[in-house]
Amino acid sequence: MSRRKYPAACDVCGARAVRLSSAPLQREFREGTFAVEGFEYERCDACGEGFIDAAQMDPIQRAGVEAARAGLGRLSSSEIREMRLAIGITQTVLESQLGVSAGTVGRWERGGELQTRIADNFMRLLFAHPELVTEAMGAMARDSRGPYRPRSR
Ligand SMILES: [Zn+2]
Repeated sequence: MSRRKYPAACDVCGARAVRLSSAPLQREFREGTFAVEGFEYERCDACGEGFIDAAQMDPIQRAGVEAARAGLGRLSSSEIREMRLAIGITQTVLESQLGVSAGTVGRWERGGELQTRIADNFMRLLFAHPELVTEAMGAMARDSRGPYRPRSR
C-alpha cells in the first residue's frame, strides 16, 4: 500500500481527513452484510469513504465470502473442496450436477464467490449421498438421447 502523508485530501468530499485505518470493513451480499477485519486501508474521517488498494481487493473479497459463509452456516472453501474430493468427482461433474456454469466451483473453492443456499443444500446432499451423483448422471445421459426426438419407426 502506498505510504503518503496523513491526513491526506479525500477524493470524494475534499476534506483533508484521509488516514490509515484498520476498522472492520462491511461487505455486502444479497443475504446480508458481514464485517471483515484485519485489513489496513485509507479511510476518510469526514465522509467515511474507504479507499482500498487494488491488490487488497481479492483478499478482502475472499475474507468477506468466508465471513458470510460463517454467518450463514454455509460450507467453507476447504469443506467444499475436501468433500468433493472425498466422493471422487471433478469440479466439472459437480458443476453439471448443480446446473451452474463452468468455473463456478473453482471460484467457490478459492473463496472468490459465495454459493447460494440452494447450491449449498444440494452439495451437502450429494456429499452425504454420493450414490445420487451416479443416478443423476444416468438421468442426464437419458436426457441427452432427447425426449423430443421423433421415433424412427
Ligand atoms: Zn471524504
